[in-house]
Amino acid sequence: MIVEMQRGIDVEQVDSVVQRAKSLGFQVQLNMGTDKVVIAILGGNTGQVPTDTFAVLPGVESVTRIMKPYKLASREFKGEDSLVNVGKVQIGGKRVVVMAGPCAVENEKQLMEVGKAIKETGAAVLRGGAFKPRTSPFSFQGLEEAGLELLAKVRQTFNIPVITEVVDPHDVELVAKSADILQVGSRNMQNFALLTEVGKSKRPVMLKRGFSSTVTEWLTAADYLLAEGNSQVILCERGIRTFEDSIRFSLDISSIPVIKKFSHLPLIVDPSHATGHYSLVPAVAKAAVAAGADGILIEVHPNPKEALVDGLQSLTISDFTRLMAELKSIAKSIDRYI
Ligand code: PEP
Ligand code: MN
Repeated sequence: MIVEMQRGIDVEQVDSVVQRAKSLGFQVQLNMGTDKVVIAILGGNTGQVPTDTFAVLPGVESVTRIMKPYKLASREFKGEDSLVNVGKVQIGGKRVVVMAGPCAVENEKQLMEVGKAIKETGAAVLRGGAFKPRTSPFSFQGLEEAGLELLAKVRQTFNIPVITEVVDPHDVELVAKSADILQVGSRNMQNFALLTEVGKSKRPVMLKRGFSSTVTEWLTAADYLLAEGNSQVILCERGIRTFEDSIRFSLDISSIPVIKKFSHLPLIVDPSHATGHYSLVPAVAKAAVAAGADGILIEVHPNPKEALVDGLQSLTISDFTRLMAELKSIAKSIDRYI
Protein backbone atom coordinates (compact mmCIF):
# COMPACT_ATOMS: atom_id res chain seq x y z
CA MET A 1 0.00 0.00 0.00
CA ILE A 2 1.29 3.47 -0.90
CA VAL A 3 0.51 6.49 1.25
CA GLU A 4 1.14 9.80 -0.46
CA MET A 5 1.45 12.74 1.91
CA GLN A 6 0.33 16.28 1.15
CA ARG A 7 2.96 18.86 0.22
CA GLY A 8 4.49 20.80 3.09
CA ILE A 9 3.39 18.45 5.89
CA ASP A 10 5.44 18.16 9.07
CA VAL A 11 7.48 15.30 10.48
CA GLU A 12 4.86 14.41 13.13
CA GLN A 13 2.31 13.68 10.43
CA VAL A 14 4.69 11.33 8.65
CA ASP A 15 5.49 9.76 11.98
CA SER A 16 1.84 9.11 12.81
CA VAL A 17 1.45 7.12 9.55
CA VAL A 18 4.64 5.19 10.30
CA GLN A 19 3.52 4.42 13.86
CA ARG A 20 0.07 3.30 12.74
CA ALA A 21 1.62 0.94 10.17
CA LYS A 22 4.06 -0.46 12.72
CA SER A 23 1.30 -0.99 15.27
CA LEU A 24 -0.42 -3.21 12.70
CA GLY A 25 2.78 -5.22 12.25
CA PHE A 26 3.81 -3.76 8.88
CA GLN A 27 7.18 -2.53 7.68
CA VAL A 28 7.59 0.90 6.12
CA GLN A 29 9.89 2.53 3.61
CA LEU A 30 9.95 6.28 3.08
CA ASN A 31 10.59 8.07 -0.16
CA MET A 32 11.49 11.63 0.83
CA GLY A 33 11.03 13.19 -2.61
CA THR A 34 11.89 16.82 -3.27
CA ASP A 35 8.22 17.43 -3.78
CA LYS A 36 6.44 15.19 -1.32
CA VAL A 37 6.86 12.25 1.00
CA VAL A 38 5.59 8.83 -0.09
CA ILE A 39 5.34 5.96 2.40
CA ALA A 40 5.25 2.30 1.32
CA ILE A 41 3.42 0.06 3.79
CA LEU A 42 4.82 -3.43 3.38
CA GLY A 43 3.67 -6.78 4.66
CA GLY A 44 2.06 -10.02 3.60
CA ASN A 45 -1.49 -9.06 4.51
CA THR A 46 -1.80 -5.35 3.73
CA GLY A 47 -4.66 -6.44 1.44
CA GLN A 48 -6.80 -7.15 4.52
CA VAL A 49 -6.45 -3.63 5.91
CA PRO A 50 -8.84 -0.97 4.57
CA THR A 51 -7.14 2.00 2.92
CA ASP A 52 -9.18 4.27 5.22
CA THR A 53 -6.96 3.15 8.14
CA PHE A 54 -4.36 5.53 6.72
CA ALA A 55 -6.53 7.88 4.65
CA VAL A 56 -8.06 9.38 7.83
CA LEU A 57 -4.69 10.38 9.31
CA PRO A 58 -3.75 14.08 9.15
CA GLY A 59 -1.57 15.14 6.21
CA VAL A 60 -2.42 12.10 4.06
CA GLU A 61 -3.33 12.95 0.48
CA SER A 62 -4.09 9.53 -0.97
CA VAL A 63 -3.76 5.82 -0.28
CA THR A 64 -3.33 3.37 -3.16
CA ARG A 65 -2.88 -0.36 -3.26
CA ILE A 66 -0.01 -1.62 -5.41
CA MET A 67 -1.30 -4.69 -7.16
CA LYS A 68 2.13 -5.68 -8.53
CA PRO A 69 4.38 -8.11 -6.63
CA TYR A 70 7.19 -5.56 -6.56
CA LYS A 71 6.62 -2.45 -4.45
CA LEU A 72 9.79 -0.42 -3.81
CA ALA A 73 11.08 -0.74 -7.39
CA SER A 74 7.75 0.51 -8.76
CA ARG A 75 6.88 3.89 -10.24
CA GLU A 76 3.93 4.06 -7.84
CA PHE A 77 6.36 4.24 -4.91
CA LYS A 78 8.73 6.67 -6.61
CA GLY A 79 7.53 8.73 -9.53
CA GLU A 80 10.82 10.43 -10.37
CA ASP A 81 13.81 8.59 -11.90
CA SER A 82 16.36 7.33 -9.39
CA LEU A 83 19.93 8.50 -9.83
CA VAL A 84 22.86 6.44 -8.63
CA ASN A 85 26.05 8.37 -7.93
CA VAL A 86 29.37 6.58 -8.15
CA GLY A 87 32.07 9.15 -7.45
CA LYS A 88 31.65 11.74 -10.18
CA VAL A 89 29.70 9.38 -12.41
CA GLN A 90 25.92 9.65 -12.27
CA ILE A 91 23.84 6.76 -13.58
CA GLY A 92 20.25 7.44 -14.65
CA GLY A 93 20.72 11.07 -15.67
CA LYS A 94 21.54 12.61 -19.06
CA ARG A 95 24.87 10.86 -19.42
CA VAL A 96 24.85 7.44 -21.05
CA VAL A 97 27.33 5.59 -18.87
CA VAL A 98 29.64 3.15 -20.64
CA MET A 99 31.13 0.37 -18.52
CA ALA A 100 33.81 -1.61 -20.28
CA GLY A 101 36.47 -4.18 -19.61
CA PRO A 102 37.34 -7.84 -19.80
CA CYS A 103 35.02 -10.62 -18.76
CA ALA A 104 37.63 -11.80 -16.24
CA VAL A 105 40.58 -10.04 -14.66
CA GLU A 106 43.61 -11.99 -15.94
CA ASN A 107 46.74 -9.95 -15.24
CA GLU A 108 47.95 -6.42 -14.59
CA LYS A 109 49.00 -5.65 -18.17
CA GLN A 110 45.59 -6.63 -19.53
CA LEU A 111 43.71 -4.50 -17.02
CA MET A 112 46.03 -1.47 -17.33
CA GLU A 113 45.57 -1.45 -21.12
CA VAL A 114 41.80 -1.45 -20.72
CA GLY A 115 41.97 1.22 -18.00
CA LYS A 116 43.91 3.45 -20.39
CA ALA A 117 41.32 2.86 -23.14
CA ILE A 118 38.52 3.79 -20.72
CA LYS A 119 40.19 7.12 -20.05
CA GLU A 120 40.96 7.82 -23.70
CA THR A 121 37.52 6.99 -25.06
CA GLY A 122 35.44 8.74 -22.41
CA ALA A 123 33.96 5.54 -21.01
CA ALA A 124 33.00 5.89 -17.36
CA VAL A 125 33.50 2.64 -15.46
CA LEU A 126 35.94 -0.28 -15.62
CA ARG A 127 34.44 -3.78 -15.45
CA GLY A 128 36.25 -7.04 -14.77
CA GLY A 129 35.33 -10.24 -12.97
CA ALA A 130 37.51 -11.45 -10.11
CA PHE A 131 34.98 -14.06 -8.99
CA LYS A 132 33.42 -15.74 -12.02
CA PRO A 133 30.16 -17.69 -11.72
CA ARG A 134 30.82 -20.38 -14.33
CA THR A 135 28.33 -22.89 -15.65
CA SER A 136 30.94 -25.63 -15.27
CA PRO A 137 32.99 -26.19 -12.08
CA PHE A 138 35.96 -27.06 -14.32
CA SER A 139 36.08 -23.65 -16.04
CA PHE A 140 38.34 -20.80 -14.84
CA GLN A 141 36.69 -19.33 -11.72
CA GLY A 142 38.60 -16.02 -11.65
CA LEU A 143 41.69 -14.75 -9.82
CA GLU A 144 39.54 -14.04 -6.76
CA GLU A 145 41.36 -11.84 -4.17
CA ALA A 146 44.36 -11.29 -6.47
CA GLY A 147 41.90 -10.07 -9.12
CA LEU A 148 40.35 -7.62 -6.66
CA GLU A 149 43.80 -6.23 -5.87
CA LEU A 150 44.47 -5.62 -9.57
CA LEU A 151 41.13 -3.87 -9.95
CA ALA A 152 41.93 -1.64 -6.98
CA LYS A 153 45.30 -0.77 -8.53
CA VAL A 154 43.88 0.19 -11.93
CA ARG A 155 41.04 2.11 -10.27
CA GLN A 156 43.61 4.17 -8.41
CA THR A 157 46.01 4.62 -11.34
CA PHE A 158 43.34 6.01 -13.66
CA ASN A 159 40.94 7.36 -11.07
CA ILE A 160 38.01 5.43 -12.55
CA PRO A 161 35.23 3.61 -10.75
CA VAL A 162 35.14 -0.18 -10.88
CA ILE A 163 32.31 -2.69 -11.14
CA THR A 164 32.88 -6.33 -10.29
CA GLU A 165 30.74 -9.32 -9.46
CA VAL A 166 30.13 -10.80 -6.03
CA VAL A 167 28.90 -14.40 -5.98
CA ASP A 168 28.99 -15.32 -2.31
CA PRO A 169 27.15 -13.48 0.51
CA HIS A 170 30.24 -13.93 2.72
CA ASP A 171 32.41 -12.00 0.24
CA VAL A 172 30.31 -8.84 0.04
CA GLU A 173 32.51 -6.87 2.45
CA LEU A 174 35.70 -8.05 0.80
CA VAL A 175 34.54 -7.21 -2.74
CA ALA A 176 33.16 -3.84 -1.60
CA LYS A 177 36.72 -2.80 -0.62
CA SER A 178 37.85 -2.84 -4.26
CA ALA A 179 34.60 -2.13 -6.07
CA ASP A 180 32.51 0.99 -6.45
CA ILE A 181 29.60 -1.00 -7.84
CA LEU A 182 28.79 -4.58 -6.85
CA GLN A 183 27.45 -6.72 -9.67
CA VAL A 184 24.92 -9.47 -9.02
CA GLY A 185 25.03 -11.76 -12.04
CA SER A 186 22.26 -13.30 -14.05
CA ARG A 187 22.68 -16.70 -12.40
CA ASN A 188 22.30 -15.12 -8.97
CA MET A 189 19.36 -12.81 -9.62
CA GLN A 190 17.22 -14.82 -7.22
CA ASN A 191 19.95 -15.71 -4.73
CA PHE A 192 18.03 -14.08 -1.91
CA ALA A 193 20.76 -14.51 0.73
CA LEU A 194 23.19 -12.68 -1.58
CA LEU A 195 20.67 -9.94 -2.38
CA THR A 196 19.98 -9.36 1.31
CA GLU A 197 23.70 -9.08 2.12
CA VAL A 198 24.37 -6.74 -0.82
CA GLY A 199 21.34 -4.69 0.23
CA LYS A 200 22.79 -4.31 3.73
CA SER A 201 26.11 -3.12 2.33
CA LYS A 202 24.45 0.06 0.95
CA ARG A 203 26.97 -0.03 -1.92
CA PRO A 204 25.74 0.80 -5.44
CA VAL A 205 24.66 -2.49 -6.99
CA MET A 206 23.88 -3.61 -10.51
CA LEU A 207 21.34 -6.44 -10.69
CA LYS A 208 21.50 -8.39 -13.93
CA ARG A 209 18.32 -9.93 -15.25
CA GLY A 210 18.12 -13.69 -14.79
CA PHE A 211 18.16 -15.14 -18.29
CA SER A 212 14.97 -17.08 -17.62
CA SER A 213 13.25 -14.37 -15.61
CA THR A 214 10.37 -12.09 -16.44
CA VAL A 215 10.57 -8.34 -15.90
CA THR A 216 8.24 -8.76 -12.91
CA GLU A 217 10.52 -11.36 -11.29
CA TRP A 218 13.52 -9.11 -11.93
CA LEU A 219 11.91 -6.06 -10.31
CA THR A 220 10.71 -8.19 -7.40
CA ALA A 221 14.30 -9.36 -6.88
CA ALA A 222 15.34 -5.68 -6.87
CA ASP A 223 12.92 -5.19 -3.96
CA TYR A 224 15.19 -7.45 -1.84
CA LEU A 225 18.00 -4.91 -2.26
CA LEU A 226 15.74 -1.90 -1.73
CA ALA A 227 14.05 -3.44 1.31
CA GLU A 228 17.42 -3.48 3.12
CA GLY A 229 17.59 0.29 2.67
CA ASN A 230 19.96 0.20 -0.33
CA SER A 231 18.53 2.76 -2.75
CA GLN A 232 21.57 2.63 -5.06
CA VAL A 233 20.16 -0.03 -7.36
CA ILE A 234 20.86 -0.27 -11.11
CA LEU A 235 19.26 -2.87 -13.38
CA CYS A 236 21.02 -4.60 -16.28
CA GLU A 237 19.29 -6.25 -19.23
CA ARG A 238 21.66 -8.93 -20.59
CA GLY A 239 19.45 -11.06 -22.79
CA ILE A 240 17.10 -13.93 -22.10
CA ARG A 241 16.76 -17.51 -23.25
CA THR A 242 14.44 -18.01 -26.18
CA PHE A 243 14.10 -20.65 -28.93
CA GLU A 244 16.48 -18.60 -31.10
CA ASP A 245 19.90 -20.26 -31.30
CA SER A 246 21.80 -18.07 -33.77
CA ILE A 247 22.94 -15.92 -30.84
CA ARG A 248 23.91 -16.67 -27.22
CA PHE A 249 20.80 -15.03 -25.71
CA SER A 250 18.06 -12.80 -27.15
CA LEU A 251 18.37 -9.19 -26.06
CA ASP A 252 14.93 -8.08 -24.91
CA ILE A 253 15.10 -4.56 -26.34
CA SER A 254 11.51 -3.86 -25.32
CA SER A 255 12.40 -4.34 -21.66
CA ILE A 256 14.03 -0.90 -21.87
CA PRO A 257 10.76 1.07 -22.31
CA VAL A 258 8.94 -1.48 -20.13
CA ILE A 259 11.35 -0.90 -17.22
CA LYS A 260 11.16 2.87 -17.77
CA LYS A 261 7.38 2.66 -17.56
CA PHE A 262 7.07 0.47 -14.48
CA SER A 263 10.18 1.34 -12.47
CA HIS A 264 12.21 4.37 -11.38
CA LEU A 265 15.51 2.45 -11.40
CA PRO A 266 18.27 3.21 -13.95
CA LEU A 267 18.92 0.56 -16.60
CA ILE A 268 22.15 -0.61 -18.25
CA VAL A 269 22.18 -2.91 -21.28
CA ASP A 270 24.80 -5.60 -21.87
CA PRO A 271 25.04 -6.44 -25.59
CA SER A 272 28.11 -8.67 -25.08
CA HIS A 273 26.54 -11.50 -23.08
CA ALA A 274 23.31 -11.15 -25.09
CA THR A 275 24.81 -11.65 -28.55
CA GLY A 276 27.86 -13.70 -27.63
CA HIS A 277 29.76 -12.51 -30.72
CA TYR A 278 31.97 -9.46 -31.24
CA SER A 279 30.53 -8.78 -34.71
CA LEU A 280 27.00 -8.38 -33.30
CA VAL A 281 27.83 -6.23 -30.28
CA PRO A 282 28.02 -2.78 -31.96
CA ALA A 283 24.58 -2.91 -33.63
CA VAL A 284 22.85 -4.08 -30.45
CA ALA A 285 24.72 -1.53 -28.32
CA LYS A 286 23.59 1.28 -30.62
CA ALA A 287 20.00 0.04 -30.58
CA ALA A 288 20.01 0.00 -26.78
CA VAL A 289 21.23 3.59 -26.52
CA ALA A 290 18.63 4.69 -29.08
CA ALA A 291 15.92 2.86 -27.11
CA GLY A 292 16.72 4.77 -23.91
CA ALA A 293 19.21 2.69 -21.93
CA ASP A 294 21.05 4.69 -19.25
CA GLY A 295 24.27 2.89 -20.05
CA ILE A 296 26.01 0.03 -21.79
CA LEU A 297 28.21 -2.75 -20.40
CA ILE A 298 30.70 -4.01 -22.98
CA GLU A 299 33.36 -6.68 -22.80
CA VAL A 300 36.67 -5.35 -24.11
CA HIS A 301 39.96 -7.25 -24.18
CA PRO A 302 43.37 -6.09 -25.48
CA ASN A 303 43.76 -9.48 -27.15
CA PRO A 304 40.46 -11.37 -27.39
CA LYS A 305 42.11 -14.38 -29.03
CA GLU A 306 44.00 -15.01 -25.80
CA ALA A 307 41.13 -14.26 -23.42
CA LEU A 308 40.53 -16.86 -20.72
CA VAL A 309 36.78 -16.19 -20.76
CA ASP A 310 34.35 -14.85 -23.39
CA GLY A 311 36.96 -13.94 -26.01
CA LEU A 312 34.49 -14.40 -28.86
CA GLN A 313 32.21 -11.65 -27.61
CA SER A 314 34.97 -9.26 -26.55
CA LEU A 315 35.79 -6.18 -28.62
CA THR A 316 39.39 -5.21 -29.27
CA ILE A 317 40.39 -1.80 -28.01
CA SER A 318 40.32 -0.38 -31.54
CA ASP A 319 36.83 -1.78 -32.23
CA PHE A 320 35.67 -0.40 -28.91
CA THR A 321 37.12 3.02 -29.72
CA ARG A 322 35.24 3.05 -33.04
CA LEU A 323 32.01 2.01 -31.31
CA MET A 324 32.38 4.76 -28.71
CA ALA A 325 32.42 7.40 -31.46
CA GLU A 326 29.22 5.95 -32.92
CA LEU A 327 27.51 5.72 -29.55
CA LYS A 328 28.38 9.35 -28.87
CA SER A 329 26.57 10.54 -31.98
CA ILE A 330 23.50 8.41 -31.15
CA ALA A 331 23.46 9.79 -27.62
CA LYS A 332 23.63 13.33 -29.01
CA SER A 333 20.71 12.69 -31.34
CA ILE A 334 18.49 11.86 -28.35
CA ASP A 335 19.72 14.81 -26.28
CA ARG A 336 22.08 12.76 -24.10
CA TYR A 337 25.86 12.48 -23.97
CA ILE A 338 28.56 9.94 -23.16
C1 PEP B 1 29.43 -10.93 -16.45
O1 PEP B 1 28.97 -9.80 -16.68
O2 PEP B 1 30.62 -11.13 -16.22
C2 PEP B 1 28.52 -12.10 -16.46
C3 PEP B 1 28.93 -13.28 -15.99
O3 PEP B 1 27.33 -11.86 -17.00
P1 PEP B 1 25.91 -12.59 -16.74
O4 PEP B 1 25.74 -12.69 -15.26
O5 PEP B 1 24.95 -11.66 -17.40
O6 PEP B 1 25.98 -13.92 -17.44
MN1 MN C 1 31.61 -12.51 -19.75
